[in-house]
Amino acid sequence: MIDPFGRTVKGLRVSLTQRCNLKCVYCHHEGEGGGSSEMTLDEVLRMMRVAKSVGVRRVKYTGGEPLLRLDLAEIIGGTVAMGMDDVAITTNGTLLKQRAHALWDAGLRRINVSLPSVRPCVYASLTKGALAEVFSGIKIAKDLGIDVKINAVIMKDINDDEVDELLGYARGIGGALQLIELEDLNLDAEFFRRHYFDLSGVESRLSAMADRVETRGEMNNRKRYLIGSLTVEVVRPANSAHFCANCTRLRVTSDGRLKPCLMRSDNLIDALGPMRSGCSDSDIRRLFEEASKLREPYYRQAS
Ligand code: SAM
Repeated sequence: MIDPFGRTVKGLRVSLTQRCNLKCVYCHHEGEGGGSSEMTLDEVLRMMRVAKSVGVRRVKYTGGEPLLRLDLAEIIGGTVAMGMDDVAITTNGTLLKQRAHALWDAGLRRINVSLPSVRPCVYASLTKGALAEVFSGIKIAKDLGIDVKINAVIMKDINDDEVDELLGYARGIGGALQLIELEDLNLDAEFFRRHYFDLSGVESRLSAMADRVETRGEMNNRKRYLIGSLTVEVVRPANSAHFCANCTRLRVTSDGRLKPCLMRSDNLIDALGPMRSGCSDSDIRRLFEEASKLREPYYRQAS
């Protein structure tokens, strides 16, 4: 599927639930607002099979908190069995301790864990969760052999002074680190105004520290800084025509709607309704193609 801007859809970001066991003050909820129902295991897997038939090769499961889905291991196992090149999840990590073994057995080899702070008090005030739970879940996942990337949204006057500690933590566990700029989506306007932190200064510092800098072609052409054994990425989507120009991702909401862009909710295509009304796989394929045609860069070069 190639969209009208010449961008091929290679990956899907699939929300499995809007339920979450944390209350992150900065959460953008993947651009979703109150969905009515969740896709079942069979519906998720059918959707992924069709997605694969139209060229999707990478699937990232998200939420809400995907580990709240008790059938997550079956979802992962089914998706891996289809022969996708990459199947991963993004999780807050609080339930990894209990679930990592089953996920490993199902074939999961890569996770992103949201960790905005390695200071227990800051973590608790941002998420209402317990940092120790996340640390032990990450350790178990790493010991099993799962690749862990830490996702840290960096916010002014909250954790912008913690970048070096996050680098140290990620290096210490043998993981990777992704520093993310706060996105203004589903957020209180005053919160965003106060806490948005421009990561360009951090990126220059990483550039100076790095032994090597690579560009990740398939992920918005973002840079990857290799500092000794540590890999660091910086995600700066806000107002970035470059980020959007290199987007190869389509989204699926937890209630089964195809979402062409994180930032928009006015062009969703319902695939779950038709599936529940008995449509064929080729009907779903057409819906994917329609969603791909609706993809357009949210931020563009001023002409
Ligand atoms: N519960 C899972 C988790 O914590 O990873 C999945 C959902 S969470 C919305 C997915 C990702 O979005 C996390 O990596 C989180 O850091 C990121 N995120 C949440 N709100 C954000 C915001 N306002 N700006 C940028 N990234 C955000």
